[in-house]
Amino acid sequence: MTSDPAELLRQHGIQITAQRLAVMRAVAGRPHITADGVAEAARAEIGTISLQSVYDALGVLVGEGLVRRIQPAGSPARFEARVGDNHHHLICRTCGRLVDVDCAAGAAPCLTPSDGMGYEIDEAEVVYWGRCPECASQGRAESD
Ligand SMILES: [Zn+2]
Ligand SMILES: [Zn+2]
Ligand SMILES: [Zn+2]
Repeated sequence: MTSDPAELLRQHGIQITAQRLAVMRAVAGRPHITADGVAEAARAEIGTISLQSVYDALGVLVGEGLVRRIQPAGSPARFEARVGDNHHHLICRTCGRLVDVDCAAGAAPCLTPSDGMGYEIDEAEVVYWGRCPECASQGRAESD
């Protein structure tokens, strides 16, 4: 599997544009980046790009499975290039820090419902919420 953005676009039959390449690089370079962050990184690379163009490019890349979109409750959508491995996220409720964690079960769906009601289930949405070590230790310091 290649990580060259141009090669990835080609393999998926997506027309290669400077904007899409810049968006791919931004997402690959900063996992869990927001659309605003992508726009900022893309502008640094190619100059002018509108937020709408960023959303359009992200939409194409997500649609083709090259980019994964995650939208934690209360947070703007985030984008990452780590796709297809069924990993999950740990999110700090206090500072919003979000990190990857491998799936404990391995393959989707990770969980089996008590009653599947005849549904063909392909995914259980798993997000681990809590406090990151830094916030947890600051919380302890405050209460001491
Ligand atoms: Zn935190
Ligand atoms: Zn991730
Ligand atoms: Zn899992």
